[in-house]
Amino acid sequence: MTDPLVEVEDLEKYYYEDDSLLDRITGREPTSVKAVDGVSFTVERGETLGLVGESGCGKSTTGETLLRLREATGGSVSFDGEDVFAMDGEDLVDFRQRAGIVFQDPFSSLDPRMTAREIIAEPLAVHDVGTAADRRSRAAELMERVGLSSAQLDRYPNEFSGGQRQRIGIARALALEPDFVVCDEPVSALDVSVQAQILNLLDDLQSEFDLTYLFIAHDLSVVRHITDRVAVMYLGEVVETGPTDDIFEDPGHPYTEALLESVPRADASEHGRRVDALPGDVPSPRDPPAGCRFHTRCPYAREACRETDPQPVAESDSAGDEQRRIACFRTDADHDYWASEPLEHARAEPMADDD
Ligand code: SF4
Repeated sequence: MTDPLVEVEDLEKYYYEDDSLLDRITGREPTSVKAVDGVSFTVERGETLGLVGESGCGKSTTGETLLRLREATGGSVSFDGEDVFAMDGEDLVDFRQRAGIVFQDPFSSLDPRMTAREIIAEPLAVHDVGTAADRRSRAAELMERVGLSSAQLDRYPNEFSGGQRQRIGIARALALEPDFVVCDEPVSALDVSVQAQILNLLDDLQSEFDLTYLFIAHDLSVVRHITDRVAVMYLGEVVETGPTDDIFEDPGHPYTEALLESVPRADASEHGRRVDALPGDVPSPRDPPAGCRFHTRCPYAREACRETDPQPVAESDSAGDEQRRIACFRTDADHDYWASEPLEHARAEPMADDD
């Protein structure tokens, strides 16, 4: 893996609230919400990178910010070697043709006043691609390719099922023949019975059109099915990155471990209920915990975790290629973590000297 199509480095998306009267009197900085806070990852050509985490952790904001659907407040994104945030004019138009998105909700993401034909052909019209006849013909071709009949092109979104609407959304995302597609929770709003059909369609289209995906999801069983590598996000930060099979078989970060333990399984308990491996709610990104952001919920948290935010440490294979990146003091045998006391809510683990 040496030729990434997308390189995200220290990406930030902060939202600043208007300064209050108290802020003005005290000279205090207005509150900011750090929705995305120093996120870094790469997406190799032709691969699917999963971006996972609980609701509100910043996954969708990351996808939209790297596509410039939202303006970043810091960091950089490189696409095929070009600086995305410095693009303007023709370069930006070209980027918008090569990088598309499939949205989460097929019910609200399609304009109810437009026919399927108009929805699919709209990106072509916006980018002034082909004649009106060419665009009609391309819409018919894409409709068939995503498993719908071109005879349905003049129907409106409310005349399709949820799965069919998502197929239309995928056809629209492919209209400009992109290289890269952000799939933002593309099956989470669908019935379980149609999720596999949409995932198989995305898989087939990736092979046929040589696509690269960033696949955003909170459902880990979906992620395991479709991704090559996974980046795990917690409270605006990426805490672990690695090959999908490795992460599922041997999670390195306590948050990844808890997420995997939280996946409902038939054998999870005698009644088949979800294991409560993630106690408590995600803290507010308006006021994230100091030190490691996961320390308030981490079963291995110690005093040292409250003081410093752990930075991701890369692990490489024998050829020197990076395999895993984990941001946790527990994986560093030399860190103060091993000499400090467990926090009250943490599981008792042996201290380093007790081994
Ligand atoms: Fe848990 Fe500490 Fe690791 Fe954070 S640094 S994940 S609190 S063990």
